[in-house]
Amino acid sequence: GQLDSKVAIVTGAGQGIGKAVAEALAAEGATVVVSDINADAAQAVSSALGGGSSFAADASSEEDVQALVQHAVDTHGRLDIAVANAGIAHMAPLVGQSLADFRKVTSINLDGVFLVTRYAGPVIAGGGGGTIVNIASITSQAAAPLIGSYAASKAAVVSLTQTAAIELRDAGVRVNAICPGFIDTQLVVDRKADFEALGLPMPFDDLIAAKQGRYGTPEEVGKLAVFLAGPRSSFSSGSAYVLDGGARAS
Ligand code: NAD
Repeated sequence: GQLDSKVAIVTGAGQGIGKAVAEALAAEGATVVVSDINADAAQAVSSALGGGSSFAADASSEEDVQALVQHAVDTHGRLDIAVANAGIAHMAPLVGQSLADFRKVTSINLDGVFLVTRYAGPVIAGGGGGTIVNIASITSQAAAPLIGSYAASKAAVVSLTQTAAIELRDAGVRVNAICPGFIDTQLVVDRKADFEALGLPMPFDDLIAAKQGRYGTPEEVGKLAVFLAGPRSSFSSGSAYVLDGGARAS
């Protein structure tokens, strides 16, 4: 495969997009460290891959992300690819939202990307270069009501991707972001509870019908992640790749 002999870490890979990214990287020959805050989920995904390893880590914890990177090097000898995927969403108006709720989203979605850059970046560089792929969102480009903390965190992920790409270029590390539209995962299903708490109907099905036509699949995100993680994207860095079935164009 195009990722033979490469070692990768993927955060939040116990289910959904991260799981599909881990599977896609492994299918191209990478040795994958499947990481998640949910140790059992990470272990289950890793077992099915039949290689690599799993590592429980909270993506918002500096100690955990540092330990995850160290685990990759100790167990597999090197690190070439880091996918910062772990993320959560919470729908609520900015006015009335607690600072704790706001920070919970940004601590995982934004701090988590910073920590992967901070700790995986120099190790990837030290091994001769490689790639970082950050999972942002189309909400980084156009926000919507009730998604403030999430959209702000994702816009910041795109900005951090640009800075990291510039700072790490001479060290041979390319850094890109993926901006998915609605992808069929538990994250979207779980927003139903947010809307119920607000006394509002869940609008996503109508939005998807009008804008995207259908949900994207986690596997479709996995394919773009392989492209950006591997040699076929050799001149791509600092960019945000929209993957939304044409939603942003409509
Ligand atoms: P998901 O809820 O299905 O999976 C998220 C995974 O992250 C879970 O396994 C969960 O245990 C893990 N996780 C949660 N908090 C964590 C933490 N603190 N540390 C480590 N792991 C943690 O969600 P998903 O849809 O697969 O989302 C993955 C990424 O894709 C997120 O960054 C999300 O914002 C982004 N995204 C999703 C969509 C979508 O429509 N599903 C669209 C755009 C972007």
